[in-house]
Amino acid sequence: RKERLELLASVEAVTKDGTEMRLSANISSVKELDMAVKYGALGVGLFRTEFLYMDRANFPSEEEQFQVYLQIVRKMEGRHTVIRTLDIGGDKQLDYFPLPQEDNPFLGFRAIRISLERQELFQTQLTAILRASAYGKTKIMYPMISSVDEVRQANEILRRAMADLDARGIPYDPEIPVGVMIEVPAAVTIADLIAKECDFFSIGTNDLVQYVLAVDRMNEQIAHMYHPYHPAILRMLRTIVEAARDAGIPVSVCGEMAGDERSIPLWIALGVHDLSMSIQSLLRVKHRILNTSAQEARAVAEECYKLTTNGEIERLLTEFNESSR
Ligand code: PEP
Ligand code: MG
Repeated sequence: RKERLELLASVEAVTKDGTEMRLSANISSVKELDMAVKYGALGVGLFRTEFLYMDRANFPSEEEQFQVYLQIVRKMEGRHTVIRTLDIGGDKQLDYFPLPQEDNPFLGFRAIRISLERQELFQTQLTAILRASAYGKTKIMYPMISSVDEVRQANEILRRAMADLDARGIPYDPEIPVGVMIEVPAAVTIADLIAKECDFFSIGTNDLVQYVLAVDRMNEQIAHMYHPYHPAILRMLRTIVEAARDAGIPVSVCGEMAGDERSIPLWIALGVHDLSMSIQSLLRVKHRILNTSAQEARAVAEECYKLTTNGEIERLLTEFNESSR
């Protein structure tokens, strides 16, 4: 079965009736690049840079980071690479950067909040990403954004990093797209405002589900309450996509939901064509897309939006997934 799936690597992800989807890979290290290419990823939709900062004794220098980003961008050979800025805190810690003990780490000092407080670290990372952008299609993405102010502050530091490179005469892509992860409910509610400050959205369903349902994604005891197919999530997805459409910016999905083939009808109905997922999911999801009718998928999604409980929605999507096998 695995060999048969591997034959799909070079096949385009198109539904039976011609709706094209684009599948990219979520990666955390350079080691995964070969697999991403082998499994036909059209790019890196999410590079989780925190792993570059982990298992070491100090922050990686601009040069060290640049070398890593460069390897990825080069390997992608013209395919896009979305580099997400540091997303530590929450469940991820660095030995050499002690964070205060927090009662609610996922509501605490994490991701962009740390970057905006430790601006020198942030600027170093942005500079390294910018340098890589001279060698291939690179995009920057900010995690955990909850306000317009945060995007503006981050962009201000990005401008400083650009000015610094200008002064040093080092090339970069001055038009580098800058995206925002939509993974905090506030960002969904003001997605129309955030869309005016950035070039693309990527929906982080892992955190979005956790925050919308107030269900800690790490807590086993309440794992049965973690429902990606909750009507509240479906409504939020629609709000995000409509805001992006109105603003004329692209939107993709990079949370685990993208790697769950049952979600395909939702993306088709919403008009989201870019999905980024773990490498293990790429061929399985592509296989499902190839066997799906977009027209039927739209009808199923429309039904989902009329249902009132996550159980009903999940059941309908599961049935549809199994029926079109
Ligand atoms: C997400 O929150 O959906 C996401 C893609 O980021 P992470 O899982 O790294 O928090
Ligand atoms: Mg996240």
